[in-house]
Amino acid sequence: MALLETPINPYISTLSKTIDDLVWWDLQEPARAYLGISSIGEPCARKLWLSFRWFSFEDFDGRMLRLFRRGHREEETIVSDLRTAGVKISHVLDDQLTFDFGSHVMGHPDGLITEGVPEAPKTEHIAEFKTHNDASFRELKAKGVKEAKPMHWIQMQCGMLGATRYFGHQVDRALYVAVNKNDDELYTERVRLDEEAAENAIQRGQRIATGDYIPPGISQRPDWWQCRCCRFHDFCHKEGKKDRLLPEINCRTCAHFTAAKDGKCYCEMFGHSEIPVEAQRKEHYCHVFHPDMVGWPYVERLGTKDSVAYSIDQLSEDTVLNGADGYSSREIKVAIEGGATSAAGIERLSEEDTELTF
Ligand code: SF4
Ligand code: SF4
Repeated sequence: MALLETPINPYISTLSKTIDDLVWWDLQEPARAYLGISSIGEPCARKLWLSFRWFSFEDFDGRMLRLFRRGHREEETIVSDLRTAGVKISHVLDDQLTFDFGSHVMGHPDGLITEGVPEAPKTEHIAEFKTHNDASFRELKAKGVKEAKPMHWIQMQCGMLGATRYFGHQVDRALYVAVNKNDDELYTERVRLDEEAAENAIQRGQRIATGDYIPPGISQRPDWWQCRCCRFHDFCHKEGKKDRLLPEINCRTCAHFTAAKDGKCYCEMFGHSEIPVEAQRKEHYCHVFHPDMVGWPYVERLGTKDSVAYSIDQLSEDTVLNGADGYSSREIKVAIEGGATSAAGIERLSEEDTELTF
C-alpha cells in the first residue's frame, strides 16, 4: 500500500508566521552599550566581555521577542497587584531609576518600595520582578533566590548598593517577586544587602568592561554545561574552525577601541577621540579586527601604524594585513566566510567579487 501523504489541515492560517515576521521589526532592540547589573553575575568573564564588545548579536526570532515582551508586560500586572496588597511602590515601568556605577556598569531596578511589605512595613525595598517557567519556579521555591538564581541575587545586591548611593541613605532590603508562567503562582522573598558581594560584583564588571584583552573562559571543555548553551561556544571551542568565525564589524571589535574608566569610549587610531555610542555601532573602513577576536596569531613585527598582521596559515606562515595598508575587515570577513583559507585566497576573492570592495 502506498504511504498516504499527511493531510494538511485546511483551517491552519499562516497569520501566526506573518505576525512573527512583522513583530521582529518592531521589537528588535539595539545591543546594550553598557554592562547591566542583570548580567553582571554571569560566572564567565569572557562571555561578559564578548557581549560588551559586540562580538555578535543575539538573533532572536519574532516568537522569542514576543515572549520577552510578555515578560516586560508582566511588570505592570505585578505592580498593580502589589498596590492592591497595600504596597507603596514608585519608580516603576517608564519611570525606572538608573544607577550608573561608572566604568560602563549600569542598572535599572524594577521599582522602589517605600512602604507595605508585611514583615517590615516601614522599610524601603528595591523591587525585582521575574517570570519563570515551571521547573525554574519549583527550584526557586525549594532553594531560595540566592541558590536557585544567583544572577538575580547579584542583580538585587547591586540594586540595593545603587539605591544606597543614589539616595544617600541605606537601602538594605530587596523584594523578589517571581511568577510561574505556567499557572500564575507567586513567590515573594525578602533579600538582605551583602555589601561586600555587591561591591565585588560591580568592581568585577568594571574590570571586564574596561579590559583591553579577552579574559579567560570559564572552561576549556566544549561539553561544559555553561558552555554548551552559550552563544560564543563556536568561538571558544570549535578547534580548527574558529578561524572561520569572525566578529561583527563595529568599533567595539576593533583593535583601536578603548572602553575607559571614565565611562566613555575612545578611538586610539584617531588620537584618543571619544566615539559616541551610535558611531560605535557603525562599520567604518578604518576597522581592524581585535587580535583576541580572530582565531589567527597576531604577527607584531609585520604590522604597521594603521594595520594589524595575522598569520592566517601558520604552516606556510602566510600572513594577511588588516587595515589601511592591507585588506579592510569587510574584505577579509567576506573572503573567509566565502571559503578563503590563505592570504592568496583573500586576494583572489577580493579580485573576483566586486562586493568585497567599498
Ligand atoms: S563558551 Fe564557555 S568559555 Fe566561552 S564564553 Fe561561553 S561560557 Fe565562556
Ligand atoms: S579605528 Fe575606526 S572602527 Fe576602529 S575604533 Fe576607531 S573609528 Fe572605530
